[in-house]
Amino acid sequence: MDIVYMDNNATTKVDPVVLDAMLPYFTELYGNASSMHSFGGAVGRDIAAAREKLAGLINAEPGEIIFTSCGTESDSTAIYAAIRSNPDKRHIITSRVEHPAVKNLYEHLAKTGYRVTWVPVDKEGVLDLDFLRHHLTDNTALVSIMWANNESGVIFPIAKIADMAREKGIVFHSDAVQAVGKVPVDVRQTGLDMLSLSGHKIHGPKGVGALYVRKGAKFSPFMIGGHQERGRRGGTENSASIVGLGRASELAKGHLREMDTRVRALRDRLEQGLLQAIPNALLNGEKDLRLPNTTNISFEYVEGEAILLMMDQFGICASSGSACTSGSLEPSHVLRAMGVPFTAAHGSIRFSLSVYNTEAEVDFVVEKLPPIIERLRQMSPFWKGAGCRLQ
Ligand SMILES: *Cc1c(COP(=O)(O)O)cnc(C)c1O
Repeated sequence: MDIVYMDNNATTKVDPVVLDAMLPYFTELYGNASSMHSFGGAVGRDIAAAREKLAGLINAEPGEIIFTSCGTESDSTAIYAAIRSNPDKRHIITSRVEHPAVKNLYEHLAKTGYRVTWVPVDKEGVLDLDFLRHHLTDNTALVSIMWANNESGVIFPIAKIADMAREKGIVFHSDAVQAVGKVPVDVRQTGLDMLSLSGHKIHGPKGVGALYVRKGAKFSPFMIGGHQERGRRGGTENSASIVGLGRASELAKGHLREMDTRVRALRDRLEQGLLQAIPNALLNGEKDLRLPNTTNISFEYVEGEAILLMMDQFGICASSGSACTSGSLEPSHVLRAMGVPFTAAHGSIRFSLSVYNTEAEVDFVVEKLPPIIERLRQMSPFWKGAGCRLQ
């Protein structure tokens, strides 16, 4: 059975071109990039080339790029760098809808004495910028706000936030893992201090990421060890993955236009097709301020996990906004922050496309999903009984 893969915000397939670029570093090119001999030095030069390609994707200088093991490490590195550089400041700000890579670290810091301000979003997932502005203080060490949300796809006004933070001399970091490769990301134009990205969200390999640190910004390393990455991240370079991320960055830059046109049109076709064919289906997320590849739709009175299981029988891969943790279906913190009613949050499905999706795949999903929802609703006591009691 063919897979219809519409879960690209969870991870992406490694482009075959990227794999080809990586393979030699598992075989003949096994030298250590830090070695004095030219055999290792050649690998060092290839890593430098990858750094330039990645820098080109976000308009940074190569020296501003630190390779890491993943988006999560980049986020942790940025957040710890900011608070270590400002040891006297005990207030940090983030949004209510961050990825766990930021959210859970902030929750951890809250337990160790930091005062945390969680900036809310409205019911369309749009950030409350005035709330953020009013909570910037002289005691604020860091603002960390994601560039685009992984669940709703909503894009945040990063340049405006960067201006507000800079005016107050506050470090600003953005988790741009979902934005990079889907919309133009320009660190120079935006003027932020640090930015995280991840290889496996842009058709590169898993287990590699990068952190942009603006030249001149204060920094202290998270991984303390060897002198790799100019002393900013110890550990022998993951040469194959770094070269893969470099190649993926080139491809991503080349795909931006197609993302904005063909992929956006496919996403709209999917979204409109489903909203028209299925009653009581609601879009989550501001319609125009979204990543071009993402749609998040709630199908009222059904369970997202049941929808996923039934779609799985047709090879359709997507995600639901409720995770079955410890036996209870808890809507995601993102949908809760948006105030999506429980009856809708439970049945939310995120489809996230890529340049590899086709119109035939979209039409397949638009054909298969309505009868699935219909069947599940026939089994749902909440759909039949008018009064919904889902708590
Ligand atoms: C996937 C993701 C991450 C984590 O990246 P990893 O490389 O998987 O650690 C962080 N933030 C966002 C917004 C993501 O979507």
